[in-house]
This record gives sequence, structure tokens and C-alpha cells, in this order.
Amino acid sequence: MNNLADQKVVLVTGGSRGIGAATCLQLAKAGYAVVVNYAASQAITDKLCQSIALAGGTTLGLQADVADEAQVLSMFAAIDKKFGRLDALVNNAGVVDMTARLDEMSVARWKRMFDINVIGSMICAREAVKRMSTRHGHGGGAIVNLSSAAAKLGSPGQYLDYAASKGAIDAFTIGLAKEVATEGIRVNGVRPGIIDTDIHASGGLPNRVAQVAPQVPMQRGGTAGEVANAICWLLSDAASYITGTTIDVTGGR
Ligand code: NAP
Repeated sequence: MNNLADQKVVLVTGGSRGIGAATCLQLAKAGYAVVVNYAASQAITDKLCQSIALAGGTTLGLQADVADEAQVLSMFAAIDKKFGRLDALVNNAGVVDMTARLDEMSVARWKRMFDINVIGSMICAREAVKRMSTRHGHGGGAIVNLSSAAAKLGSPGQYLDYAASKGAIDAFTIGLAKEVATEGIRVNGVRPGIIDTDIHASGGLPNRVAQVAPQVPMQRGGTAGEVANAICWLLSDAASYITGTTIDVTGGR
């Protein structure tokens, strides 16, 4: 185990479950101190943190709704207090909503979707840049934003507001990558296809992975671990000349 002072620190938003949890486990194995953010799942986060700690890792669970600026600022203050550094950010927290057509959707739904998926990622990235950039006297870092295949497919008749929010994330990844490219920070994205997590049940479609699998060239849904592999690689020095890119993890879809 590294000294706490030498250990790189990563914040994974929405780290309690699904892709976020798989990413936390892999990053802990890779030697990072892992800050596991969650919205509501305290018991699940505690369990995840315990299993990381039992394996010799360093971890901290922090509740914050990423759409709430004051909560995010408190979360970053807690990271500053415990670790005094931040080397990597995974903007993973995200939500879908019930299947609907545009002419059935409310503005309140769109605002929630964009507040969490887009503004939440932008607030976290802003706070991360302040703690990573050479412009602010720090040593650089890496950011990975979670997009979705929906950004390219559009998700008609299902949740095109979600697809639009992920399209915004794709543009944000390109722009921020260029903005901080000379400041030691790489910014990339991962665009998962249909991945076996709870998110589909939260959108009222618990069997969505099985339903969509026949449309996937590889004829199956992906696992959270397969997405985490791409995230961890993009954060690693193996991706040192890669910035402003979003990788499809879609089984060819
Ligand atoms: P998931 O299993 O539903 O988990 C969502 C995570 O986000 C949970 O940790 C949840 O925390 C957290 N979260 C939700 N709202 C939050 C908020 N306002 N503030 C902080 N945390 C919040 O989702 P997933 O499938 O792993 O998806 C992770 C990311 O991948 C999302 O950005 C999603 O859009 C993207 N993605 C997923 C798929 C897929 O097929 N699964 C495909 C494409 C893209 P709690 O546990 O506390 O609720």
C-alpha cells in the first residue's frame, strides 16, 4: 500500500452501484484512493467501501446530489480535508426516466435529467479542474465523462431527453479537453451501449438488456466491468496521448 500522501485520489460520482461501483473496485485495485459518491444508497456504499478497505484499499463514501451545487462543494471540501489532492474524476452519476414520447414529457422531467446528467457533470468537472490544473498550481489529472450510445441513436419513443443530455456530454468532453490540454489534464468519454445494471429498472424496463441484446452485433448486453475497463484505461498513463475522445463500449451497436 502507498503512503496516503503519494497515493492518487479519484472521485467516482454515482459510485455506489452499476458501472460506478465496478469502476471503484478496479481503480482501488490499481492503487487509487477512491472517493465513492452516491445520492441515496448509503448502506450499499458502506458495503462497497468496506470491501475495498478489506482488500487493503483506501476509500471514502460521500453523499451528494451532483445536481445540487452546495452539496457538490461540500463533497469537494471533504475530499480536500481528507486527501488534500484530486488526480482523477469519473463523471458517472446519471439517470434515465420512464419511456415516453416528446409530446408526453414535462419540462420538470427535462430539467431533472439535464441537472443531473449535464450540469452535475459540469459542476464536478469545474471543481476537479480547480484541483488538477497546472494553471491553479496543481500537477494535472484525468477526467472521464459517461456518455451513452443514446447520444448517437437518439432514443426515439423512449427517452430522447436522456439521449440529448448525453449528446451535451459528448460536446462538453471535446470542449473541456481542448480548454485544459496544456494544463496537464486529459478529458475523455465512454459511450456505453446496453449494459446490465439497475438503470433500466429505474426507467421502468427491468428486462431491457434481454430485449435489446438481439439488436447488438455481439448479441448480448455488456457488463459494468467491461465499461469500467475502458474508463480505467482512459484514466491511466497508457492513454497519455488521448484527450477529447469518446470510446464506444457497445458490442458493435
Ligand atoms: P445505475 O446502476 O442506475 O447507478 C446510478 C448511479 O448514479 C448510482 O450510484 C446512483 O446513486 C447515482 N446517482 C443517480 N443520481 C444521482 C445524483 N443526482 N447524484 C449523485 N449520484 C447519483 O446506473 P449505471 O447503469 O451504472 O449508469 C452509470 C452511467 O452510465 C450513467 O451516466 C448512465 O447514463 C451511463 N450509461 C449506462 C448505460 C447502461 O446500459 N447501464 C448505458 C449508457 C450509459 P444511488 O445508488 O445513491 O442512487
